[in-house]
Amino acid sequence: MFKKILIANRGEIALRIIRACREMGIQSVAVHSTADANSMAVRLADESVCIGPPPGKDSYLNIPSILTAAAVTGAEAIHPGYGFLSENAEFARMVEEHGFTFIGPSADHIDSMGDKVTAKKTVMALGLPVVPGSPGAVESVEQGLEICENAGFPVIIKAASGGGGKGMQVVKSANEFKEAFTTARREAKANFGDDTVYIEKYLEKPRHIEIQIFGDKHGNGIHLGERDCSIQRRHQKLVEEAPSPALPEDEREAIGKLAADVIRKMGYVGAGTIEFLYEDSKFYFMEMNTRIQVEHPVTEMITGIDLIAEQIRVAYGEPLSLNKDKIKLRGHSIEIRINAEDPETFIPSPGKITQFHAPGGLGVRFDSAIYGGYSIPPYYDSMIGKLIVHGRTRDEAIKRMRRAIVETVVEGVKTTLPLHEWIFEQEAFLDGSYNIHWLEKTLAAKAEAKEQK
Ligand code: ADP
Repeated sequence: MFKKILIANRGEIALRIIRACREMGIQSVAVHSTADANSMAVRLADESVCIGPPPGKDSYLNIPSILTAAAVTGAEAIHPGYGFLSENAEFARMVEEHGFTFIGPSADHIDSMGDKVTAKKTVMALGLPVVPGSPGAVESVEQGLEICENAGFPVIIKAASGGGGKGMQVVKSANEFKEAFTTARREAKANFGDDTVYIEKYLEKPRHIEIQIFGDKHGNGIHLGERDCSIQRRHQKLVEEAPSPALPEDEREAIGKLAADVIRKMGYVGAGTIEFLYEDSKFYFMEMNTRIQVEHPVTEMITGIDLIAEQIRVAYGEPLSLNKDKIKLRGHSIEIRINAEDPETFIPSPGKITQFHAPGGLGVRFDSAIYGGYSIPPYYDSMIGKLIVHGRTRDEAIKRMRRAIVETVVEGVKTTLPLHEWIFEQEAFLDGSYNIHWLEKTLAAKAEAKEQK
């Protein structure tokens, strides 16, 4: 097994990887920006190296600094976490070229899924259903309009290189199309350095259901069930649960098998997620993420499997320790993402945490890197922690989440905990009937009602 792993990330995921390393008897190296010198990851890793000033591009995205840190500390492998360089094929390639192991899929697989147009074509050829729309990149307004007429409005224009819920435009009618198309291309160029866009039919009431998959270097490929991530705002996930309250057992098995088949055919190695929209008992492929995801804990809770440890073992060359026939999905798990943001305006609220108390008790897990006295730097993502619960049933998990939210104390900054408290009281959440548009619509209605008062 590896003796030392460098973690090219920060925050809760850096800590999560350090935890897996320690349990496996592997030394860990944390890299950090000057803004993160007092981070929990730096404190808990066996070694740490400062790799640059606060802005991500100068530190967590600074490939030469990270590779130098790996060389200086004698690390054998690099775990990229999620975000930052995790889906950067060039980084994966350079890591391997410098003699380290990249804990993730091959650079070619990252490349093939990184461009969403190529990804859609690839998986279609392997047998996955996709959202109706353009078969590839859309070059002109005329071509776009023709595709829209065929698919039917509304449509969504997406950036081929987009991610994180950014670079998408919903278009309701032909009149709006020209302007939206021009804006979408300009924004794609500005945000992702690539103005390639494509078009999909905009689904009106789908759920976001994703399948966790895993492959190894010995030709094995399995799935570990689904996660329902339909509670979203601005295409970003806020709550995730497993299993999905909307998926019947036979459909779960069918889509899982299809996803695992694709992984085997691709020869994919490592953890990955195939994301689908699900409407009227039909699945439509959206994209594949070639990394560990923020919401991986809900899968860990219902399978009892440490997915980070499995990533490390597979990267080392060991066969999957999981046998698909032995994976039993047990009970129900829900995760909420806690952001340091105003719960109504969603404006980031960085600053010093004056008081902190983590929730606990049976079936409660808190993945976070904050502590009392910690200062949340303004430079990075505003997620400060994930609260995950497990129960025998969905109902038990919901009750557990409610009481765990009440126990959580984070003072000195604003957090989205009050929003979560509210979500866990809503009928559409409790009965599981929500779809990806529900939260935004309901929040808008709530804001309007408040204004009229
Ligand atoms: P990203 O890579 O930015 O996460 P995705 O393609 O995964 O982008 O889409 C993110 C979210 O956008 C989805 O979870 C869903 O809420 C919404 N979305 C994407 N495609 C469609 C579509 N065709 N119809 C309706 N909503 C969509």
